[in-house]
Amino acid sequence: MARTVQIFDTTLRDGEQAPGCSMNLQEKVEVARQLEKLGVDVMEAGFPAASPGDLAAVKAVSAVIKTSTVAGLCRALEKDIDAGWEALSGAVRPRIHTFIATSPIHMEHKLKMAPEKVLERAVAAVKYAKKLCEDVEFSAEDAARSDPAFLCRVFEAVIAAGATVVNIPDTVGYAIPSEFGALVSYIREHTPNIGKAVVAVHCHNDLGLAVANTLAAAAVGADQLECTINGLGERAGNASLEELVMGLRTRKDILDLSCRIDTTQIYATSRLVSQVTGVKVQPNKAVVGENAFAHEAGIHQHGIMANRATYEIMTPESVGIPKNRMVLGKHSGRHAFEERLADLGFQLEAKAVDEAFAQFKILADKKKVVSDRDIEALVVGSAATVPETYILDRWVVNSGSSLSATSTIRLKRKDGSFSEQVAVGDGPIDAAFKAIDKIIGKEVELESFELGAVTGGEDAQGGATVKVLYDGRRWNGHGLSTDIIESTIRAYIMAINAMEWELSATGAAKGSREMEKEKTGV
Ligand SMILES: [Zn+2]
Repeated sequence: MARTVQIFDTTLRDGEQAPGCSMNLQEKVEVARQLEKLGVDVMEAGFPAASPGDLAAVKAVSAVIKTSTVAGLCRALEKDIDAGWEALSGAVRPRIHTFIATSPIHMEHKLKMAPEKVLERAVAAVKYAKKLCEDVEFSAEDAARSDPAFLCRVFEAVIAAGATVVNIPDTVGYAIPSEFGALVSYIREHTPNIGKAVVAVHCHNDLGLAVANTLAAAAVGADQLECTINGLGERAGNASLEELVMGLRTRKDILDLSCRIDTTQIYATSRLVSQVTGVKVQPNKAVVGENAFAHEAGIHQHGIMANRATYEIMTPESVGIPKNRMVLGKHSGRHAFEERLADLGFQLEAKAVDEAFAQFKILADKKKVVSDRDIEALVVGSAATVPETYILDRWVVNSGSSLSATSTIRLKRKDGSFSEQVAVGDGPIDAAFKAIDKIIGKEVELESFELGAVTGGEDAQGGATVKVLYDGRRWNGHGLSTDIIESTIRAYIMAINAMEWELSATGAAKGSREMEKEKTGV
């Protein structure tokens, strides 16, 4: 009988902490719902003490998630744990996840604390958290470079203090599989009360070994595997959920492990996270990359036609990649559209389907064929939006080689009034953004913007992702249009709407994202 391991997803915390991967509150809720559908046992929703925005997002996720445990990361400090509990207390299954570093290099140079003090602080944090929350996870940051005997002492003490999960992170992605497996075995053998806690691992991918290390740990008894969608995460990222889960499934013959993930939701989840963050999946990425199941070389194709198993160790259907890349057009009805949505793994509420279908009709008038990628982009664009403070009414941009770019933008406010501004800029995008800044009366800093064709072909839609900074906080927007300038303007306005909505919802608190400077976490 195969042992069942728990899947702990930290896309919304570790993934979101990575440069260029930030998500706004609505986007986090959207991803959280999809993670629940995917069947993750635990989702780490954020780092509540990092900023009021992070706290609000964890609270919002806690309010909607029913079957998965929702965890929040907290340093081993009472104020962090208080913020964590404030964010998590509304969850059906809340978990406080607290951590402190245990490696000599971190204790000496970062914490400037003696090992005995670190042990004391760990126990105190777990005791404090336990008073608030039954489920407490403790992580020994940089465990892979810690003294194994010291780790066992720390784990024994925190389990005695009430920790329900002890996590062994390879925070810096330094371990190799045989070594990491041996460390997990050592801890399981030398921590007397280890049977009272779930043993977790959390591996980073700096040497490209995160999934391999995680599987090595699972093979010797780790019960909870921490990972992220598309392998997002600090630096080179975390173990990728899709690779880990398909590894467990495809090599059940030797690993003899199972998990509760509905693998047919993997592809939709990967696409959603990619769309929301604007971070593309590399084409040769295992399991979810564009080429992962493409057998283009003639010799392979011949083999595949004779028997799929010649070159295919898992099927595209098993990870939810739609069978045929069906295309829709302007004569496709709502029923066909809804059916395609379901095939692509999206289950939307009626209102969101209405919105997406209306957008689809507009697009189908402009484009002959509407592909799956177009539909995904529409859905993500319409589902993760926030109430609109500003709506694009009309725009004009003039640019060329012999004159400065100018832009006139007219926006409609939610009270029905209109506002129009003209601006000059370095190029058409800059001119348009400056005109919008004049309308909203705020100087928003553009952190980055990315533009890509959703599909091939001359009538392809341009998908834009814009990241803006205001008051130390960051918001994303996505825009879609067959005109690339319009898609960028739409993305900018969406980011502004997310900002306006979040500032009003969480109070225009000074963005004190203190963790940003400190860059901490397991
Ligand atoms: Zn991490």
